[in-house]
Amino acid sequence: MTGVTEFSLIKQYFTFDSEREDVILGVGDDCALLAPPANKQLAVTVDTLVAGVHFPLNTSPADIAYKSLAVSLSDLAAMAAEPAWATLALTMPDSDHDWLQEFSTSFKESLKDYGVQLIGGDTTQGPLSITVQLTGFIEAGKAMRRDTARVGDRIYVTGHLGDAALGLKLLNIHDLPDSTIKGACVKKLNRPVPRVVFAQQAADYCGCAIDISDGLVADLGHILKASGCGGRIYFSQLPVSKAFRKSQVYLNQFNYSQMLLAGGDDYELCLVASAHNEEALFALAESTGVLLTHIGEIDASTSLSVINTAGEAIAVNTSGYEHFSDE
Ligand code: ADP
Ligand code: MG
Repeated sequence: MTGVTEFSLIKQYFTFDSEREDVILGVGDDCALLAPPANKQLAVTVDTLVAGVHFPLNTSPADIAYKSLAVSLSDLAAMAAEPAWATLALTMPDSDHDWLQEFSTSFKESLKDYGVQLIGGDTTQGPLSITVQLTGFIEAGKAMRRDTARVGDRIYVTGHLGDAALGLKLLNIHDLPDSTIKGACVKKLNRPVPRVVFAQQAADYCGCAIDISDGLVADLGHILKASGCGGRIYFSQLPVSKAFRKSQVYLNQFNYSQMLLAGGDDYELCLVASAHNEEALFALAESTGVLLTHIGEIDASTSLSVINTAGEAIAVNTSGYEHFSDE
């Protein structure tokens, strides 16, 4: 966008009070000037949400703003980094006041909740798309990485799986006998809670994690590949919400196993840790109010197996959401 409207728009909707001392110069100049802590490493991540691809076209501006920040916060959590600075590249078809006001209010609120400052961005005209780049801090050597799983380690997940994938399907269903199911699952789809506080402390007990954005099997698969090992997960141990369980009673047209194992948008963490640290990890989960479930083990095989209660391997479609696949 060019001309006076762009600058007044940035001033009106994206210039928030300075809250962090490490931001020397925020929104308004050609670059932001930042004072990174001398004794930490920077963790940097960027994610784009495209309307109609990453969220349905009728998603509210407040939910879009929340989620565009949450998905990047989830990446920082997966590395155990402490969130600090954000940039926002916003492409939108027109400059609609009501839309911008709602987006801006929600974005500002989420920034505040996580102590993050918006330090710059870009504003352009085109199909709606939101890119958030986040920088966080982490002590050298403390980041949870994908390549550190070892044979014998245990596999854990936070929260519940499958709710967001179910929520996406329920958006188009209007005659559910129990409306709390849809409410809970759509909330998980639009407002995933990044496990930021838990993750930073979990790094004391756990060197390996990933956030589940493309489905458990696909994302755990990234850990196994990077670490050069295999693993097994026990299907009956996968954490399922009350809403998900109830939905299975009312609606039998969905493939629930697939949603649990390969549904996207969970934004939970999958952690791999030594059994020695299990007690400490569970105590931390409890004290930070996060549900943590042991779901499997890393083994010396070369692939991931999903095991049923009879001890047999279940076949699953292991691919997560793939933007450039032909299917
Ligand atoms: P330039 O043309 O020099 O890149 P811009 O006009 O793109 O400058 O941006 C002016 C200032 O406003 C910069 O500090 C930039 O970081 C900031 N900015 C632009 N768009 C946004 C946005 N959506 N959110 C936050 N800051 C923004
Ligand atoms: Mg620019």
